[in-house]
Amino acid sequence: MVITIDGPAGTGKSTVAMALAERLGFDFLDTGAMYRAVGLEALRRNTNLEDPRELAFVARHARIDFDWAKHPPTVKLNGETVGHLLRGGEATRAASYVAVVPAIREMLVAQQQRIGRERQNLVTEGRDQGTVAFPKAEFKFYLDATPAERARRRVAQLRSRGEIVDYNEVLGGIVSRDTRDATRSVGPLAVPPDAQVIDTTRMTQQQVVDAMAERVRAASAAASRSAAPAGG
Ligand code: C5P
Repeated sequence: MVITIDGPAGTGKSTVAMALAERLGFDFLDTGAMYRAVGLEALRRNTNLEDPRELAFVARHARIDFDWAKHPPTVKLNGETVGHLLRGGEATRAASYVAVVPAIREMLVAQQQRIGRERQNLVTEGRDQGTVAFPKAEFKFYLDATPAERARRRVAQLRSRGEIVDYNEVLGGIVSRDTRDATRSVGPLAVPPDAQVIDTTRMTQQQVVDAMAERVRAASAAASRSAAPAGG
């Protein structure tokens, strides 16, 4: 079974996707980490981020995989564990250049689909998982929240790490990232037509995970009832 979770940055997607996977005993795929890993490799090679051909060259020569023995699975770049290096500002910025290059998206989506075939049960999280990577997924969720709320969460997260940040700057960054995500020609951020949309603005992460798990449970129960022989 594949469960896709898409939505813009700052909806708490990664955290709830990971928690849902754990609750259901599924593997968890963080597809943003793949774009970030290519971004990190591009930075390490001093690539011109404005040049899609250079970026595609970097992506073609980078080996990105996951250590599935770990929970959550750790991302490896050319054999090196790099998870802790991917969340910084530089890798985040580089990833947003990487994510608009069609040749790179094609490569990473193919890899995601291969992972989907190899893992028995998967929760996968990103921007295009329900639309492009797994259009036939059994379950699709789309998480949203107002830009103001997403900025508030991001500011709280950064301040808890001791960083000094300005709310309006963070909000501006979120709005411009949304625009870039939604307007790129390949794999734009979009609500899959058959997705269940959850507005998380007024919900805690725990409530979001509970709501998703309940919907999966109810649908699975209904499916097994209709598959059971009548009168049985
Ligand atoms: O979700 P996260 O913030 O880690 O994503 C990092 C970058 O990769 C973002 O720029 C996002 O737009 C991009 N991305 C993407 N498609 C995905 C996952 C992430 O374009 N499936």
